[in-house]
Amino acid sequence: MGGFSRRDFLKRTAASGVAGGIALSGVKIAEASTGESVGTMIDLTKCDGCKGKDVPDCVSACKTENMDKFPEPVENIGNYWPQKKYEDWSEKRGLTNRITPYNWTFVQTVKVQHGGKEHEVAVPRRCMHCDNPPCVNICPFSAQDKKKEGPVVIDPDLCFGGAKCRGVCPWGIPARQAGVGLYLKIAPKFAGGGVMYKCDLCYDRIKVGKRPACVEACPKGAISYGSKSEMLATAEQKAKEIDGFIYGDKENGGTSTFYVSPVPFEKVHKELMAQKSQQKNPQAPGFPGMQVGVGNFLDTPNGIAAGMLVAPIAGMFAAGAAAVKTMKGEKNND
Ligand code: SF4
Repeated sequence: MGGFSRRDFLKRTAASGVAGGIALSGVKIAEASTGESVGTMIDLTKCDGCKGKDVPDCVSACKTENMDKFPEPVENIGNYWPQKKYEDWSEKRGLTNRITPYNWTFVQTVKVQHGGKEHEVAVPRRCMHCDNPPCVNICPFSAQDKKKEGPVVIDPDLCFGGAKCRGVCPWGIPARQAGVGLYLKIAPKFAGGGVMYKCDLCYDRIKVGKRPACVEACPKGAISYGSKSEMLATAEQKAKEIDGFIYGDKENGGTSTFYVSPVPFEKVHKELMAQKSQQKNPQAPGFPGMQVGVGNFLDTPNGIAAGMLVAPIAGMFAAGAAAVKTMKGEKNND
């Protein structure tokens, strides 16, 4: 975490009137992908969930790679109005079987009947890096960016942990940790509730020409990385060869992640939901489904209404965000 005090934030907000004016009209709209960005192709005929290992290699690699970005919350985390509880995963850092602020990818395994036989399908899960990410578009604090390379990245220095991004993500991916972040300095009892965390497609690595850690770690070569158009073409070719199915090309209007499976994703989703219903708290996020053709919530009447609700504060915080990014030598979609 960088050290931005409340005074710094307010000073920069005030000083950035011009820059902030760009976004004062309301919620920032993410730049749609140009098709030149990068993506991944996840081949479910190759992934076996690293059978026999306690933790799949992609999951271990992700944890190691992002260790320095994981939250270190304050000791006594308090509730913030009107919430009566907070989300604290710091005692469960070792969990690898769901998404948490300390575990940004995991592998779901389901058994599916298809074509007269049973298939065991292992599915690595994490942020899909949507083309038009509702999480970016709804964030009142402009804490998320769709980078021109494709990754959707949360800035922990700007995030208040309001979790609106999780609410509009079709897969409920961003995970919240309380007791960390800017809200502690600005309004610990009344705003936000921590910082949201998720996969950023190893943005720091891809900026310098490296592949994401999970891609490098997979012993089966199940996760490919390259230009987005190349990944989609590879997925289409593979699906044709195996008479299989693709997920992620149309969902939520398109993403940078293309799964190829020998079984229909409707069946995968059904099994995932059956597993979820067995959990202690089936409504809890962190265990995403794979609903085929899932749309963008912000395109629905309820989503448009939600966007309008956050718009008035979005402009004010976007001004602060623009200033902080300038101070850090960044700009949106850099
Ligand atoms: Fe945002 Fe969810 Fe899409 Fe990731 S999958 S970019 S968190 S909406």
